[in-house]
Amino acid sequence: DQGRAKAPLPTDRPAHVRRVLAVASGKGGVGKSTVAVNLAAALSARGLSVGILDADVYGPSLPTMLGISGQPAYEDGAIVPHIAHGLKAMSVGLLTKMDDAMIWRGPMASQAITQMLTQTRWGTADAPLDVLVVDLPPGTGDVQLTLIQKTPLDGAVIVSTPQEVALADARRAHTLFQRVNVSTLGLIENMSGPVFGEGGGKAEAERLSIPFLGALPLDAALREGGDAGRPPVATDPQGDIARRFAEIAARV
Ligand code: ADP
Repeated sequence: DQGRAKAPLPTDRPAHVRRVLAVASGKGGVGKSTVAVNLAAALSARGLSVGILDADVYGPSLPTMLGISGQPAYEDGAIVPHIAHGLKAMSVGLLTKMDDAMIWRGPMASQAITQMLTQTRWGTADAPLDVLVVDLPPGTGDVQLTLIQKTPLDGAVIVSTPQEVALADARRAHTLFQRVNVSTLGLIENMSGPVFGEGGGKAEAERLSIPFLGALPLDAALREGGDAGRPPVATDPQGDIARRFAEIAARV
């Protein structure tokens, strides 16, 4: 499209990215990052070009979960994302020493995220990125609100464990997205089974009138793969975990 006038890009919309999909949770420790990474891998397995942005300023776990480290390179004023398991990846944990206790206030956190979002070379004019998965910080406080107001999200999935205490926070997360007009694409019940119970996620999704996207069992392979930088969806594409994520990926 040489010669055609180009409208300036809005500053907070990442260039050459078709769709920005958030993964959120009302609570920490429910498996949000695990779901974000494996969902990204499942979208990639569907033939899409996929990036993942770890915006979890409280506990960036993407570097560990994808086995990446080191500050990203800069080229022509852009951040060059790491590539791991076919995913373009960028994490707030790569911008600072990973073991530092990070106490971010809202404006600082959202500025860092905006920079990673807009300055990373996710795609190019010739090869736009199909989906950028954003792993949001858990919770429904000011930091999260500022972030989702400033981030151009095309939709969000909410991860919860089956217990009422987690589901109550998942409800708050849904309310937060409604307040900023981001559509909740559905709820995923993680760690489903005899330990934390099952069915609570589905019932909650029905109460909230949002799609129930599926249940994931408590499974040692997910934990081990997360710790080892080897997401099961990418490393065991024929396995049960990959099959479950494929079903979820087909619906978001
Ligand atoms: P969050 O992002 O919500 O804080 P994480 O994805 O970091 O949660 O998960 C917390 C811990 O639980 C990690 O050690 C992860 O490997 C583990 N985990 C998450 N989901 C599962 C699951 N379905 N089965 C087993 N372990 C899981």
